[in-house]
Amino acid sequence: SRVRVMELIESPDITFEKIGGLREEIEEVREAVEYPLTKPEVFRRIGVEPPKGILLYGPPGTGKTLIAKAVAHQANATFIRMSGSELVHKFIGEGAQMVRDLFTMARERAPSIVFIDEIDAIGTMRLHDGTSGSAEVQRTLMQLLAEMDGFDNRGDVRIMGATNRVDMLDPALLRPGRFDRVLMVPLPDTAARHEILKIHSAKMQLRGVPLDKLAAETENTTGAELEAICREAGMMAVRRDSDAITWSDFEQAMRKVKDKTQSQDIMFL
Ligand code: ATP
Repeated sequence: SRVRVMELIESPDITFEKIGGLREEIEEVREAVEYPLTKPEVFRRIGVEPPKGILLYGPPGTGKTLIAKAVAHQANATFIRMSGSELVHKFIGEGAQMVRDLFTMARERAPSIVFIDEIDAIGTMRLHDGTSGSAEVQRTLMQLLAEMDGFDNRGDVRIMGATNRVDMLDPALLRPGRFDRVLMVPLPDTAARHEILKIHSAKMQLRGVPLDKLAAETENTTGAELEAICREAGMMAVRRDSDAITWSDFEQAMRKVKDKTQSQDIMFL
């Protein structure tokens, strides 16, 4: 049952070409995560310590996991993902042990990249103490901090975190020697949306669909939503039993994906 909460990939098949936009963000992650693994001697020669952990934050579906996987691919490293929220909600009483297991596995499979998604679920500011749940979450957080403190910056286990809510994080996680680099992964701009649309429609039969126009008309749309729009447009064409996807398919798909996101936003209120 630990399979769901931990995802282990030998070397993910995601390459940087599969990521639209985010060039500067990718470079920052490479410096913090990939180069310490692939060229540690440069850090030694120059006499600089690589950051211990890098935390990515930003809206859901903007490519945080994608960047982590691509960097693991590039470094030929094992990618181990753990979801903070699944850890807290599905493994009550086992959180600290799971964190220990995670780091043991990371050391055994090194070089490796540990990616803790939704880290805010474990590391939320200690505002509402007193419930039984939070003492357990505290223990999980303490274990995570202990594991991070216990390993060498220059070792071949790199750690990444991701969250949508950096403002909620326990400052203990952000102290030097822990997540000492924090990087915002923003919503894509028009040029990035164009790249993302190209990536996700690369294998699709389009007829009269200017992707630059589509990019211009999809402001405030995440990469995950753009992917969904391409898929939905494809499904429209399948339903019509057509041989190509048209602009009208994309228009309907845009409406459908936007409606879905809006109803999800309402659920969060
Ligand atoms: P969450 O915070 O929900 O975990 P995330 O930022 O980690 O989100 P990803 O899991 O990386 O988001 O993105 C989900 C999917 O959306 C990706 O698998 C990919 O198909 C698509 N996607 C998101 N951003 C991009 C991007 N910049 N380029 C190409 N595809 C993207």
